[in-house]
Amino acid sequence: MIQLLDNYLEGRWQTGTGSGTPLFDPVLGTELVRVSGAGLDLAAGFAFARTRGGAALRALTYGERSAQLARIAEVLQGQRDAYYDIALRNSGTTRNDSAVDIDGALYTLTQYARWGAKLGSARCLADGAPVKLGKDGSFQSAHFLTPQRGLALFINAFNFPAWGLWEKAAPALLSGVPVVVKPATATAWLTQRMVADVIAAGVLPEGALAIVCGRSEGLIEALQPFDLVSFTGSADTARTISSHDVVLRHAIRMNAETDSLNSALLGPDAAPGSEAFALMVKEVAREMTVKAGQKCTAIRRVLVPQAHAAAATEAIAAALAAVKVGNPRNESVRMGSLASRAQLAAVRDSLAALTSEASIAWAGRSADLVDADPAIGAFVMPHLLKVDDGDAAQRVHEVEAFGPVATVVPYRDVDHAYALARRGCGSLVASAYSDDPAFLAQAALELGHAHGRLHFVTPAVGKTHTGHGNVMPMSLHGGPGRAGGGEELGGLRALAFYHQRSAVQAPADVLAKLAESAAPWPGETG
Ligand code: NAP
Repeated sequence: MIQLLDNYLEGRWQTGTGSGTPLFDPVLGTELVRVSGAGLDLAAGFAFARTRGGAALRALTYGERSAQLARIAEVLQGQRDAYYDIALRNSGTTRNDSAVDIDGALYTLTQYARWGAKLGSARCLADGAPVKLGKDGSFQSAHFLTPQRGLALFINAFNFPAWGLWEKAAPALLSGVPVVVKPATATAWLTQRMVADVIAAGVLPEGALAIVCGRSEGLIEALQPFDLVSFTGSADTARTISSHDVVLRHAIRMNAETDSLNSALLGPDAAPGSEAFALMVKEVAREMTVKAGQKCTAIRRVLVPQAHAAAATEAIAAALAAVKVGNPRNESVRMGSLASRAQLAAVRDSLAALTSEASIAWAGRSADLVDADPAIGAFVMPHLLKVDDGDAAQRVHEVEAFGPVATVVPYRDVDHAYALARRGCGSLVASAYSDDPAFLAQAALELGHAHGRLHFVTPAVGKTHTGHGNVMPMSLHGGPGRAGGGEELGGLRALAFYHQRSAVQAPADVLAKLAESAAPWPGETG
């Protein structure tokens, strides 16, 4: 008998109506569990979160809420094996790839617990010191951030069922804002199990955390003034939500993390044989194959000096050829499957679009799949593509194949390289590999406006850098334009989304009194 996973709303577990939507093992093709959010009273559930959950959280200080985050991390740590098992079965990922999601979630929670503890007994945040408005200084202005009083609705993507919840929930709960999460259906099991464990442990007050599975209808309609939406997924869905009448009418604050054509840039100094060249090759091959390329931050375009294009292509292909692809239950396997057959179809479509203008420089052979049947499993072998003329290419800068696919694009000079990177029309991350600090500093000035994060690697940090695609809680995650225009993480700066920033114009003694209940923001986040 296949289990129908419950939803947690209004402080109780609720079973959706109907037979539900099946979730599959993307390697073996077997059905695992089902989800249904049909028949739930979303309006009542959301009201409960706002009133009960919000009030209970706001009754606590930042310090007390940060202790709850630490306790959540402890509870999740205790069930890690179960999470790895679910990820293996429902996401088709190797143990190392599951760690990016599961241990990444624990690490992010722990960091926010540490940073939040420093805010202590404060109940609001002070953004800067007061400034005089009048001549004698008796009347002043200062900016304060107070916690929002709506709920935070998280609509999440399939590729990070663990981290995707907790990287958002950590700053929301720390801010005192209750959370309702709607995980992507294909991989909702892990999110649901984590929520169930946290609820069972009684860490959070009633109403602080809710989950609705397998349903997107009615979620936006149930929003009210002061609610927040944090969305991760495709640009199309982001547009549907942001243009929804309810979102427009109430000016609902929305953060969107969407598609991105991230690039890696080989510096003009980094000739074949140099350390910087080797570091770029290693990183591109890694980014293409970690989680089978299903990372929003993965490298999609590899920008290399024209003279080194052939050598770079050959070296990346050689690195990819060493990656065993197949059933992650086999210990020799380094890259598993995509998350679902639907994603397999989507990546095949994107590959077809890309190869209408790019040629295949190297591709793995399905015959080399380890312990897996390509007719059943959602496998795409790594594909390295190349174009000769990056200016004439269109799709290479537009189509995000959400799998192990990247395209080598040659550039003439650094200005050309910057122009090609910008053709992504706003990306989450660009990385550059060089032993020339002056070039890298210039690249930051040239590329900053079009990227949420720049990741620069010299041989000196070859062993210590954190990886092009790894999202660290200390650094901002998000990007302009095509990437959605959102901002997440970046230490305690992330709390801004869950607070209202107000200017308070008042006599100096009133501001001094208010400052007694405020902690300086963003404060120290290291
Ligand atoms: P998607 O179809 O847009 O789905 C994302 C989420 O939105 C899912 O939970 C989905 O629910 C829900 N949804 C779909 N239609 C909705 C609607 N009308 N109203 C409310 N919710 C709705 O995205 P995807 O194709 O699964 O995800 C892959 C994309 O996410 C990639 O393009 C990738 O670049 C992007 N991504 C970005 C980041 C980032 O941080 N920038 C991270 C990961 C992924 P169902 O699953 O139930 O349909």
